[in-house]
Amino acid sequence: MSKTMPYWQQKPCPEWCDVRHRKFDGGSDRDCISLWHGNVTFTLMDPRSNNLGREYGGIVHDKAGAEVYLRRSYGAAEPRVEVAHETESGIGYFRLTASEALKLAKILTAAADVAKQE
Ligand SMILES: [Zn+2]
Repeated sequence: MSKTMPYWQQKPCPEWCDVRHRKFDGGSDRDCISLWHGNVTFTLMDPRSNNLGREYGGIVHDKAGAEVYLRRSYGAAEPRVEVAHETESGIGYFRLTASEALKLAKILTAAADVAKQE
């Protein structure tokens, strides 16, 4: 995808970036974020309840889960793997390097392989 770079951008976006950057972007709006998002629902966990306020429908109950995607912060050399998940006080994030994500994936795979044998 061909994109016109705003004045503040030092190098083109990676192929996986899906953000339409604008010249007036600042802070985290300058981050590159992947189009690809993987989602996992956690069926053993209680649903999350968020009070969005009366104007946005009040208390909303949602299934627990996590969303995984890539983010490269503005000025960072490498992207990170970000895992966003609902907590009692809002959205929490695991921010992992590629090697940390691979290590976690291997540990989860090993644990799941053992659990599936039961
Ligand atoms: Zn980008």
